[in-house]
Amino acid sequence: MKTWSRLGLLVWPYRRKLILSASFGVIAALLWSFELLLTFPITIMFGEHHTLADYSHHEMVKTSNAIEFRNTRLAQLDEQLRLIPENGERRRASERVEVIEDQQRLRMEVDVYTSKLWTLSWVESKIIRNLPTDQFQMFALLFAFILLVTFAKGLAGYCQDVLAGSVAESVVIDLRQRLFRSALRLDPQTLSLEGTSVWLTDFTYSLQNLANAMTEMGGRVVREPLKAVACLAALLYFNWKLTLVFLLFMPVLGGLFHWLGLRLKRAANRTVDSMSRIYKRLEETFNNVKAVIAFDRAGRHRREFHRENKNFYQQAMKLVQIDAMSGPAAELLGMLAASAVLLPAAFLVLRSQTTIWGIPLAPSPPTFPDLALFYVLLAGVLEPVRKFSKFYNTIRQSTAIAERLFARMDTASLIAPPAVSQFMPVLSQSIEFRDVTFQYAKHVNDVTERAFVLNGFDLTINAGETVAVVGPNGSGKSTLVNLLPRFYDPDRGDVFFDGVNLKDAKLRDIREQIALVPQETLLFDDTIIENIRYGRPDASDDEVHDAARRAHVLAFTDAMSLGLLTPVGEHGKQLSGGQRQRIALARAILRNPHLLILDEPTSAVDAQSEQLIHASLRDFVKGRTTILITHCLTPTLLEFLNRIVVVDRGRVVATGCHPELLATCQVYQRLWDAQTQRAAA
Ligand code: ADP
Ligand code: MG
Repeated sequence: MKTWSRLGLLVWPYRRKLILSASFGVIAALLWSFELLLTFPITIMFGEHHTLADYSHHEMVKTSNAIEFRNTRLAQLDEQLRLIPENGERRRASERVEVIEDQQRLRMEVDVYTSKLWTLSWVESKIIRNLPTDQFQMFALLFAFILLVTFAKGLAGYCQDVLAGSVAESVVIDLRQRLFRSALRLDPQTLSLEGTSVWLTDFTYSLQNLANAMTEMGGRVVREPLKAVACLAALLYFNWKLTLVFLLFMPVLGGLFHWLGLRLKRAANRTVDSMSRIYKRLEETFNNVKAVIAFDRAGRHRREFHRENKNFYQQAMKLVQIDAMSGPAAELLGMLAASAVLLPAAFLVLRSQTTIWGIPLAPSPPTFPDLALFYVLLAGVLEPVRKFSKFYNTIRQSTAIAERLFARMDTASLIAPPAVSQFMPVLSQSIEFRDVTFQYAKHVNDVTERAFVLNGFDLTINAGETVAVVGPNGSGKSTLVNLLPRFYDPDRGDVFFDGVNLKDAKLRDIREQIALVPQETLLFDDTIIENIRYGRPDASDDEVHDAARRAHVLAFTDAMSLGLLTPVGEHGKQLSGGQRQRIALARAILRNPHLLILDEPTSAVDAQSEQLIHASLRDFVKGRTTILITHCLTPTLLEFLNRIVVVDRGRVVATGCHPELLATCQVYQRLWDAQTQRAAA
């Protein structure tokens, strides 16, 4: 239900269109039942009274006779009543009551017949008198009229569908935008835990399904039940008792829909899951296409993909089966209900009776045209009900999908913004990690133990310092610097900027001060210059050029015919790893941050360029705080580093300057030995 109210809120802005669409639906439904009613005169014309005038005349005579007969009977009863003494014995009194009841019934019948007579004479004088008397002409006229009604009905249906479709598409666009917005609000961990493929599936497959379902629903869901209701109203008017028998079957039909709907919802969810696994296979294969080719593993990927596809087929077939079953099942039940009504009705017609087992079912014995009309109207109810069973499936399916999308939109970020944010000045004193313990979150389905990546980490970095962080792979260096822009929050302990706990500061205040060059270079499919400008969108071309020069981007773009305007390709794949890293560095430099964080920014850059980049960093780090994770302490770097922090297994094992550490710290010695050996090789 909550899903529906949320969808309702999304639809609300388009309520005018929706109301208009529903109005067209009402028109279409009314025309539908009207069209069916038009079969009545046709059955008359092929009956014993050949012309409509004849039929209406006959009916009028029959009706007046019936009135006459009842009036005579009423007069007789009046007489009888007068003969029964008012305060007689008991037996007499009950006789009196009986007579009065009889009279009441007769008077009601007289009323009914009188109104029928009035209707008949109105139709006779206003309509039938103006119609052609020739049988065939009349028939042709009727058909022309039916065609006209069909056209009008089609037009109304078209308008309804187009309007409903436009509402559905608009709602889905809103939903897609909201989903994107909520995705962008999340922290990197939550996003990566779910996996890109799951998000992609929801953005494409789920949303598209929802759009289709809503278009269909908006068009038919209003019209089909309305058609049924219009025909039902006509049925009730003609014979409410028999119609009630028919209606008794409706709860059973409802139960059937409900049961199918539950199964459908489950199947719909599984289909989406299965589709997201297909996306995952695709994404993984395309992203690692070089590994796939180099290790000649295409066969394995093909098999895996085939398996997922087969799985999807099975899930989709479940949906198809339930969907295919619901139509015939509804039809069968409907036919059962119809026969429960048509059999007694046929009995009344064929035996010229008004009662069955003493139960009065009709005021006068129904005629064949009555029966035919009844049949047509019943079909008029059942056809939309059968169709509706399909739409009901669509509704269930789209509710399942909408539920999923809303749940995705409600995913909470692991990074909670503070209730009351504290003012965060520009970094001027220190950054302090105080007893920080951190462990990566895991997916709910993941049961493996997670180790502590940072364990009681303590470190203070003074503003204006340039600090190198070194340590073996997996010691937690990248994790450490990712705490600063609050990609993650520590499980225990805190991080302070000038004494302000990061958890109490506005996210934007923190991130504004920081430029981060992450370990994996992240480029957009755009030109080099735009990728650099991403660091500060309002930067002038000159500023971008300056940043590009400092990061030694110009060193390689000068040789390119398009220079800085060279496109980098998807994920920057058209450039070499070292070139990509230099662009990422230029982006950070352009941002002109107070806190510069570089996570192995030159790991893929050649040794000569690395020296040059370190040289230009020497100027750039002046007046700002810099944290540099590196495996390569070049002489230039050692010149301007204030301090080196050695990290191992999530803790600081030593801090100091190069000679000190070489003399005292074993971990550092090992790292340094490895580096010098590499340089010598
Ligand atoms: P490094 O010092 O090499 O930069 P990291 O901080 O990247 O080390 O990683 C430290 C440890 O955290 C590693 O053992 C790694 O297995 C684990 N780790 C890193 N990123 C994640 C992640 N997104 N989810 C789970 N574990 C991670
Ligand atoms: Mg790292």
